[in-house]
Amino acid sequence: MPSAPTYPADYPGLTRTDCGCNRRGKTEDRLLPWEQRLMSLVTGLGEDYLRQIRLHFVPPQSVSEAGGIVESSAIQGALSRGYNITMGQDIWFVGPINTCTESDLLLLAHESAHVRQFADWGKDQFLQAYILEWMGHGFSYPDILAERKANLAEDSLREFLGNHLSLLRTVQSCGDISDELLRHARAYLDEYNGILTRRALTGAYGDDLKQRATSL
Ligand SMILES: [Zn+2]
Repeated sequence: MPSAPTYPADYPGLTRTDCGCNRRGKTEDRLLPWEQRLMSLVTGLGEDYLRQIRLHFVPPQSVSEAGGIVESSAIQGALSRGYNITMGQDIWFVGPINTCTESDLLLLAHESAHVRQFADWGKDQFLQAYILEWMGHGFSYPDILAERKANLAEDSLREFLGNHLSLLRTVQSCGDISDELLRHARAYLDEYNGILTRRALTGAYGDDLKQRATSL
């Protein structure tokens, strides 16, 4: 029987393997402290709130685990089509993620932006608005305001990390960036928000977000 690829052979940049970013083999997890701090930068949510997020890597095994019948069908529907989905403080990924890779870290940022939207609008209102928009846009996800905002957050984090390659390299080598993020909290927040505003002003994320660019 061929053995599974051994970590970190499949992630050549990694030198440590014990920092918890690789969720392979796990069905559920929480955010690591550095992930909480970085997602706090992206979402504006407090770390206490982010600490309660549950990351799921296998589909819900029951309706109650999904949080209800509506939630269950939405989650099963999204996952079966290959989409990650967020429901309140539960993020359901299609499979295990490894946040020591930039691509998976950005996926987490995208879904964390949805956690913020649920927090702002409330679950029922968010879902209602989302579904109405989805139908209104001909069942096209990329046109939905919540998705455009989450894409904006994801792209802004990508740009931010591009400006701070030492942070990214630390993450990729399973290091802890918590202290670094705390030390530069104010400056990083200003920079991230500046990136967000500038990107929104391009109009690439929609005219509505362009008009509200300075209040995002
Ligand atoms: Zn999304």
